[in-house]
Amino acid sequence: SSHVERIPATLIAGDGIGPDITASVTTVLDALGAPFEWDKQEAGLGAFEKEGTALPEKTLESIQRTGLVLKGPLTTPVGKGFRSINVTLRQKFDLYANVRPTQTLVPGGRYENVDLVVIRENVEGLYAAMEHYLPSGNDPQAVAYGAGYNTRTECNRIVRFAFEYALKNGRKKVTLVHKANILKILSGLFLEEGRRVAAEYEGRVAVEEKIVDACAMELVVKPEQYDVMVTTNLFGDILSDLTAGLVGGLGMAPGANIGETMGLFEAVHGSAPDIAGKGIANPLALMMAGSMMLAHVGRLDLSQRLDNAMKHIIEVDGIRTRDLGGSATTEDVTQALLRAIR
Ligand code: NAD
Repeated sequence: SSHVERIPATLIAGDGIGPDITASVTTVLDALGAPFEWDKQEAGLGAFEKEGTALPEKTLESIQRTGLVLKGPLTTPVGKGFRSINVTLRQKFDLYANVRPTQTLVPGGRYENVDLVVIRENVEGLYAAMEHYLPSGNDPQAVAYGAGYNTRTECNRIVRFAFEYALKNGRKKVTLVHKANILKILSGLFLEEGRRVAAEYEGRVAVEEKIVDACAMELVVKPEQYDVMVTTNLFGDILSDLTAGLVGGLGMAPGANIGETMGLFEAVHGSAPDIAGKGIANPLALMMAGSMMLAHVGRLDLSQRLDNAMKHIIEVDGIRTRDLGGSATTEDVTQALLRAIR
């Protein structure tokens, strides 16, 4: 309605199942009265085939202008010289925090009470992929050498983000996940800065420390014990896929990439070429990303309503797409959500 201030947001439908699931999400968000004014832009394989670039200048300008993005999955063109578009976006816009909430929504799964958030540092660490070969004897590629780096500034910023996130979202505990027993410098620096930041939040948010391997085991055995977890790039990459698997897989895993002045919201999964165009993709991961986007712009009311609607269609209506063991189509999910929010 006209009295609601519209918030410009860039919408990238993406490749494969992207157009289907973004259509589902925007339909539901619009029906919910979400304040977003969509600026539709292209990226990915579709953009590459049409315009010769996977990340057109117009798209970048739109993102720069709105600072707010809902993005479907992108297929990175295969071939030499193509960097992952997602990695490029993260670095270009300094989207330093990757936020991945995991919550049990589908009853009867392996775990009933999972409600945790993995916060992954998004720009440094071993993901910097500073690697090369070293020769030995006649073999020029006898040894693979790789390095990574963590800066004090960034470790401090990501842990601070985790504590602020905990405060804002009513969460009680932050777990610092590291491997400082072995990587005494690389991971040690993260732990050191983590402790420094944690001290500032004493009495408001609890802190604990976990070594990443033990943490992986505990996540499988007793994931209910975790609340907010914060870690460096590679560990976060692995653990957040693990946690997605705890609650129904990739079709249920949203992710946000957050910078100082920017938020990019997406599903964790890719473009799913094997089911593209079949109308059976699960739109809930991107729907949850839409809910995070609402919370990001301060519309917790609408975010909550959307979360409740998703819970309702799964628990009460029993609507499940194929990845969740059901036979509902993308459109079935959209229609069920539209009924649920009415
Ligand atoms: P994928 O996530 O696309 O698919 C893995 C499996 O999960 C497939 O069997 C797929 O059918 C299923 N799946 C994924 N999302 C689903 C959904 N919403 N509903 C039902 N089933 C779903 O991973 P992939 O096949 O390794 O990658 C395909 C392409 O996506 C690649 O080009 C890759 O680079 C890209 N990718 C993009 C992103 C992103 O844009 N954020 C993330 C990961 C992969």
